[in-house]
Amino acid sequence: MTILPIRKLGDPVLRTKAKEVKELSNKTKELLDNMSETMYAAPGVGLAAPQVGILQKIIVIDVDDKHGLIELINPEIIESSEITTIMEEGCLSIPEKTGKVSRPVRVKVKGIDRNGKEIVIEADGLLARVLQHEIDHLEGVLFIDVMEKG
Ligand code: ZN
Repeated sequence: MTILPIRKLGDPVLRTKAKEVKELSNKTKELLDNMSETMYAAPGVGLAAPQVGILQKIIVIDVDDKHGLIELINPEIIESSEITTIMEEGCLSIPEKTGKVSRPVRVKVKGIDRNGKEIVIEADGLLARVLQHEIDHLEGVLFIDVMEKG
């Protein structure tokens, strides 16, 4: 496994929309392995493929031992709660900056795993937060775009 360089704010790749993954290959699996390795080394709780310069809809998340490592390909939010909460966020691509972001407390996310099997995750708390943050990355959106001003 390889630790990949993390792209930083100002790199246009972070502002470009990622493409849906159409075919799962050994390269996809290798990318997933390298992404989690990179996330753990940082250390961070989530990483989206554009952050390592790959414009594919792939995210990895590990917020705690209870949920463990979550790998999601082509993730999409299919439901979100009306109730929102404000939490402090940071991003591996924007070091040394944090900001308060308001997001739905609960989300339901659908995607596929590395073997093409459909996964549906119902999440709240930190996991819901990180899912939304990482899925934003796939649209070229960063937390600084959505954080509370002032
Ligand atoms: Zn981020």
